[in-house]
Amino acid sequence: MKKAPPKKERVTCKKCLMPFEERFINKNGECVICDEYRKKWLNRDYEEKEKELKQIFEHYRQRNKDHKYDSIVAFSGGKDSVYALYLITRKYGMRPLVVTADNGLLTPFARANMKKVIDQFGVDHIVVTRDQEELKSIYRAYFKKTKNFCEICYLTIHSALGQAALEHDVPLIITGFAFKVDSSHFRAAHRYCFEDSFAKIVKDSIPAEIYEKYITKQARADNQFHLLHLFDYINHVDKEIYHVLENELGWDSNKREDKHMDCRFHHMLGYLRMINGDLTSLALMTPAALLRDGQITVEEFHEQLAKEKDLFKNVDKKQLEEFLDFFGVDEEFLTSNPDCPELAEILVYESDIENLIKSERNKGADNLTLIKLLFDSIRPELKRDGGDIRIISFNEQLLRIELLGACRACTIADQVMMRYLEHLIRTYISEDIILENVKPLAPFSR
Ligand SMILES: [Zn+2]
Repeated sequence: MKKAPPKKERVTCKKCLMPFEERFINKNGECVICDEYRKKWLNRDYEEKEKELKQIFEHYRQRNKDHKYDSIVAFSGGKDSVYALYLITRKYGMRPLVVTADNGLLTPFARANMKKVIDQFGVDHIVVTRDQEELKSIYRAYFKKTKNFCEICYLTIHSALGQAALEHDVPLIITGFAFKVDSSHFRAAHRYCFEDSFAKIVKDSIPAEIYEKYITKQARADNQFHLLHLFDYINHVDKEIYHVLENELGWDSNKREDKHMDCRFHHMLGYLRMINGDLTSLALMTPAALLRDGQITVEEFHEQLAKEKDLFKNVDKKQLEEFLDFFGVDEEFLTSNPDCPELAEILVYESDIENLIKSERNKGADNLTLIKLLFDSIRPELKRDGGDIRIISFNEQLLRIELLGACRACTIADQVMMRYLEHLIRTYISEDIILENVKPLAPFSR
């Protein structure tokens, strides 16, 4: 196994205090995430967005008026999903089926808390379980190739939601994911959609029938699920959320035990990054997001960061042993550099994009033409994975697009594909363009 390559020099963003490679910092000293935040979230008209949300909800109430459920709510038992469930039922009067994916890593606290919450709302709740040994074999196979495991958790959530939507004929899937306070950014997309890359990475290690259970892209393309992130429409403010949880649902937010309770290895993930020379990235995510959004002060940022770092540093022997045992590796593996050539195969070479855009711009092409060319260069790879992309409208500032086929309701497309497209457009076409993923309403009958 190779040694990890040396880390590139980093520059700290003036606004959110996260370190970045210099090319991701703009002339005002702010990072790409802060830049995106300013354009997309800072002046978001939440009144308008809520009107839009009510129309969407009304559509699905009508569509499913003879069904027991009009929506599916993804539920981890953490604060965001509890607050989302609170709004969906008490404020908007929806009749959701609450769905938890058993990712194999849920803590006992999460399970107990889920039950408490669900009892208060009087809604139906299902936990989509998987065979624990089977799930563990997938985690192991994937971890041994990539030293990551979050993707397997996404996959269990992704397939559980798709499965429930299909079985109950409920196309609306609501998540409590808050993009406004998320600090991840993607500067590369890989050739295969994440279901396929997962299958490809572990295909030699586990039987095909196991991973086929987790591949739901055909169902998503056929049934036109509508994946809605509630906090795209409703402002996500930590203090308000805790206020509701404490006063209306009787939570004790001082304990803050809800943090990451859906993953019993969250601390180990931070530890793993730390011992590989990436000291702060995971610990920084939440404090940086809150600072960026003006929800905390710089002093509070440093306090929170110190607390997060301590969690990762203070991994004890028992936690470490449990982790090594689960993944079937030794301690030495944690600092090694695994070979995973498949993952390195990127969707599109940016130098090709850059050259294409430059030469066409020199010939006088306008931005819309350049965007079309950019999409055309990605399209064959998307199509091969059962996806596609379509431009709905463009007015030099707002580019509205629609993801099609298997990408349509992919739970990870908004996080990875959309952000990657934004990165390409911002870097090679114009910094001023804002990208919006338009999600059409699912039809009344299949
Ligand atoms: Zn920043």
